[in-house]
Amino acid sequence: MQTCSKCNISSPDNAQNCVHCDADLREYSATAVALERFRANPRVKAVRVTVADDACPVCYGAMKTYPKDEALRLPLEGCSHEHGCRCFYEPVLEETAIMGKVEQA
Ligand SMILES: [Zn+2]
Ligand SMILES: [Zn+2]
Repeated sequence: MQTCSKCNISSPDNAQNCVHCDADLREYSATAVALERFRANPRVKAVRVTVADDACPVCYGAMKTYPKDEALRLPLEGCSHEHGCRCFYEPVLEETAIMGKVEQA
């Protein structure tokens, strides 16, 4: 499943374009937009792929931290879950916890 960042409508994993507004999901899916934002943010040092609790083996295999430029594209190719790939990206920030405040990526 992919969510369009423009209209918030879900499209199947294999859709190239949003079923609702025809946006290019390689560029405008929620995960693609998130990854783009993390890449543009110098405080984000790496990107972690996070999976749902009941994710399929393919997704579990992809669950790790990647250099920003090498993060796997979501949805994962070969995902076998009936609802499709629900993986998402999490930013890995530089050590800011020492400062005693939580910062948004
Ligand atoms: Zn859309
Ligand atoms: Zn999967």
